[in-house]
Amino acid sequence: MEFDLWWLLVLPLMFALGWLASRVDLRQVGKERALRRDAPQAYYRGLNHLLNEQQDKAIDAFIEAMTADPDTVDLHFALGNLFRRRGEYERAVRVHQNLLSRADLPREARERAQLALAQDFFKAGLLDRAETAYEDLRRSAYASQALTSLLQISERTQDWHKAIARAAELELRATGTYQRQIAQYWCELAAQHQAAGREAEAQQALDAALQASPQGVRPRMLRAQWAQQRGDLALALQSLESIDLVQPEFLALAAVQIAQLRQQLGQVQEGLAWLRQRLEQTPAIDLLDAVLLLDPDPASRARCAQGYLQSHRSLLALKRVLEHPAPGAVVPEVATAMQGAVDNALRSRQRYRCAACGFEARQYFWHCPGCQGWETYPPRRLEELSLLGS
Ligand SMILES: [Zn+2]
Repeated sequence: MEFDLWWLLVLPLMFALGWLASRVDLRQVGKERALRRDAPQAYYRGLNHLLNEQQDKAIDAFIEAMTADPDTVDLHFALGNLFRRRGEYERAVRVHQNLLSRADLPREARERAQLALAQDFFKAGLLDRAETAYEDLRRSAYASQALTSLLQISERTQDWHKAIARAAELELRATGTYQRQIAQYWCELAAQHQAAGREAEAQQALDAALQASPQGVRPRMLRAQWAQQRGDLALALQSLESIDLVQPEFLALAAVQIAQLRQQLGQVQEGLAWLRQRLEQTPAIDLLDAVLLLDPDPASRARCAQGYLQSHRSLLALKRVLEHPAPGAVVPEVATAMQGAVDNALRSRQRYRCAACGFEARQYFWHCPGCQGWETYPPRRLEELSLLGS
């Protein structure tokens, strides 16, 4: 009986001691955790501000979180990216450099920080520093990404030799096909050589362009341009007409020039027959213009323009009909007024539009000034395109 009583006393005592011990323990740990708990809270607050597009408050919260827990690598990245997005490149660079200066940084995080730093430099327009930073990533997990950015840098700095080498390396890495782009780089290089009077090098670059992309239109147009400058009109004509064999829809870009060459060579009838046939096969307003330029007979010109309008009901075609009226059909003053009306309606419809970004331009571009894409412009003006789409 005595034993039982003793036991009844000891049990609550042990329980109380245990409880006390656990309280003391928890308080100790709690103190250590308090600081760390602030970090995630500030982190979530920052995220919340970000989602509400309150970037200033988000940055304050992230800085607070970083002060509470300087080891958090992800916070550095979040903050650095925020700075970069706001255009505060100096601060972004400082955050990422701070991260890179840490000796204990694991390899994966170091490479990621290096990439972020390269992106900061790139966005800030410090292309030489960006190039160095990206070059350092060539053997990292971000090699392909770095190489793509290096390619962009060589395009911006118009270093076409480097662009060609980097595009070829990207192709070796099986990140896609770059042959058409490489052909465009060779064309840029050829134009550079030609402008500097290095004709042999220009010719070699042009050959390389055609080797990279045998269906290329631009090398054929460049070759024609240079041949014409040298007075070799026959070669110029042959080069332009060869576009018909590779990408007939691009004849539109060369049609008027072809008509002028035929005229200069005294081959009007031969040229007319060729152009009329192409106009039938791949109708385009530029081919109509070429025929109208070459045809000496006003009645025949009027018929041709009217025939085109019947099958292509565009303002461009209507304009040609008004410009080439059948003899005696319209009073000249009325014809002028009608042309004016059509010109007004056409004003914004005569441009070329990038298929990738929608950038519009009066002149045809091989390299879009808007999105930096290559060969993104269809060889048809807006007015003609809307006709094809309908
Ligand atoms: Zn574009």
